[in-house]
Amino acid sequence: MARDTGAVCKQCRREGVKLFLKGDRCYSTKCSFERRGFPPGQHGQSSRFKLSNYGVQLREKQKIRRSYGLLEQQFRNTYRRASVEKGITGENMLVGLESRLDVVVFRLGMAPSLRAARQLVNHGHFEVNNHKVDIPSYTLRPGDIVRVREQSRKLEVIHEAMRRMRQERIVQYLSLDKAKMEGAMLARPKREEIPVIGNEQLVVELYSR
Ligand code: SF4
Repeated sequence: MARDTGAVCKQCRREGVKLFLKGDRCYSTKCSFERRGFPPGQHGQSSRFKLSNYGVQLREKQKIRRSYGLLEQQFRNTYRRASVEKGITGENMLVGLESRLDVVVFRLGMAPSLRAARQLVNHGHFEVNNHKVDIPSYTLRPGDIVRVREQSRKLEVIHEAMRRMRQERIVQYLSLDKAKMEGAMLARPKREEIPVIGNEQLVVELYSR
């Protein structure tokens, strides 16, 4: 699967906001955005130009896309699907992103970062409703149960991530049973419950140009 191999922390600095792409490190003093919160590059500290409307929309799209660690085409495909659904396109898009199996695994704290969650799903360590699923973009629906597969229950990376997961970080549309190493999607995510900083309406405006 194609993936973005660029330096992760530079993405936060470029977007001017913490995107929380590196798990625990993001909550520690080692976070490079805390130490160098200016854009990367030779002129990073001195660039203070005003963005055009297009520039603002583009940056907002990049911010949300990078929050989910997706390539442009993958992100655009999610937008396309959202745009033909009933309801508000921007919200549909975020719900589509939050319903991906890799994102749910990460939100449940079964992986230290979204990148790690994607890799663990790819390697076949999870099942959905008792069936092995190794497709990170697999869409979950309310009522679906995600579980660590029997043969993967000894993986230290999963145990360590779950040990560190604080209950208050679980979003309202998910539930976690640590003892059973499983979680459930309780309901369709509502916009106000989705922990992503960004204005999705600007993404809609950008793609509607
Ligand atoms: Fe962003 Fe996390 Fe790196 Fe901080 S540690 S710059 S929040 S990816």
